[in-house]
This record gives sequence, structure tokens and C-alpha cells, in this order.
Amino acid sequence: MPLGSAVHAEVDSQWSWFWWEEVSDGLYLIRERFFEPSKRANIWLLQGSQRDLVIDTGLGLMSLPRFLSSAGLIGTKPVMAVVTHIHFDHSGGLHHFDRAAVHRAEASALMRGDNFETATWLSDWDIKRRPQRSWRAKNYRVKAVQPARILDDGDIINLGNRQLTVLHMPGHSRGSICLHDKENRILFSGDVVYDGSMIDWLPSSNISDYIQTCKHLMTLVDNNLVIKVLPGHFDTFDAERLYSLASNYIANVGVCHKILSCAARCIASLALWFKNYSKRVDH
Ligand SMILES: [Zn+2]
Ligand SMILES: [Zn+2]
Repeated sequence: MPLGSAVHAEVDSQWSWFWWEEVSDGLYLIRERFFEPSKRANIWLLQGSQRDLVIDTGLGLMSLPRFLSSAGLIGTKPVMAVVTHIHFDHSGGLHHFDRAAVHRAEASALMRGDNFETATWLSDWDIKRRPQRSWRAKNYRVKAVQPARILDDGDIINLGNRQLTVLHMPGHSRGSICLHDKENRILFSGDVVYDGSMIDWLPSSNISDYIQTCKHLMTLVDNNLVIKVLPGHFDTFDAERLYSLASNYIANVGVCHKILSCAARCIASLALWFKNYSKRVDH
């Protein structure tokens, strides 16, 4: 499937929060225009013949399904939103959708709105234009969501003319998944791998799991099962880059890396615990 021809548009001022482009036929990239570019997640919309799939949902400061509908990107077909993992930059908008899907390992945290496990960490400086005048980052929380579907490794998400296979790829977080379009050899990789350094120091990160995940990614390339990666942040990349990102992680994960990562995880966990504990006291 050819990828690349790009068209982007603002629908109207109310929905100018979102920016979008058509990546290829039936595949769209959406971004939150006013969220700090180094932090905002990619949102992917895949239109199927029977149903449409939204992969990751952004912060949720504006209604993504209402935007998609007003932009004519979704219509009468059923829509499901799946999160590649529950970190706040991916799962914050999930509560706007009627049907949500998440990997089993993170389902209970999502259902109880656990903002420690969602690693919720947003500052006023991250948002260039507030959604409402009264909006403050300190009050931002990921809302609890009851998933309509709980995913396991090997599950198929059937859109009619497209099938996506769920690949459980823990390491960045316990329930991280990639979605593999085998026919088109496309991998939606979430935060498992993007063109930047891999984050293995958040509360539910695990270095041993991440090494196994990187080996799995390299196997996908070795078997010529991926030609394009559509990641959770930044730009798309090819199989060669995927292989080098995965192999570099394994090559660099020595004792020194493990000690630094462990220290960072302790600091991040404490900071997240205090941030979320103080919010519970405030409200
Ligand atoms: Zn993440
Ligand atoms: Zn992310």
C-alpha cells in the first residue's frame, strides 16, 4: 500500500485543536495541535469496510469522535478506539468513545482511572492554548473507562477489509501492544518503539521484558513482515530503522543503563505518587 500523499486541514475553529492528514487510502494521522510537539502522541484512524478503528486517543481535552465526525472522517460505521497502552497521552481521550479496547494487563488500571499507572504528568506549559479559559493542567486526570473489549496477544481486530493482529510487547509498560497489519506489512507501534530513545523507567516499565520485545521486533524484520512503522510519537520509519532501534536498545542495556534506569524509575514513581496523592486530597 503506498504511503505518503498528505493533505491536512482545519475543519473549523471549534475543532482546530486537531490537525490531520491522509497518509494513504483510508489511513489518517491526527495530532493535538496545541500539545507540546515533543510530547504529543500520534493518533491513527484506520477506515475499514465494516468498522473504523482509532488507534490511541490523545489527551482528551477535546472530543476526538466529535471532531472525526465533523471532519467527515467517520460516519455511520461502528467505531472502536484501541489504546496501544494506557499512558495519559494515549488514553486520555478514550472516555469520549462508546467502544474502547485495551490489553488485559492494563485493563483494571484503566477501569479504576489509575493516574499513577497512566503516568499522568501534564503542565500548563505543555498546552499552548487552553481548551477552556478555566482549564488548568493540575486538574487534568485520565478518566476511568470500561473497555468493551479486552485484548490478548494474537487477537485479531477485524475491520472487514483489514485485519490487525495484537502483539503484546511489554517493556515500556506492562500492557503495551503493537498492532500488525500483516497484509500491508505495517506495524502500529505505540510507544514500544518510535524514532527516539526508548523509555524504560516509568512505574510499569520492565527492562527484561523490553529486551524480549526488541528481539521480537527484530524477528518481524528478519522475516520481512514489516516494511513501515507508524509509531506513537514523531515520524514514520522503515524496517531498517526499526531493526537498528531495537538492536541498539539491546546493545546499550548494560549494568550502567540498568542502574540509571532503576534510579529514574524510583524518582518518577515517587513524583507520580505525590502528584496523584495530592490531587486526591484536593478533590
Ligand atoms: Zn508511553
Ligand atoms: Zn506516549
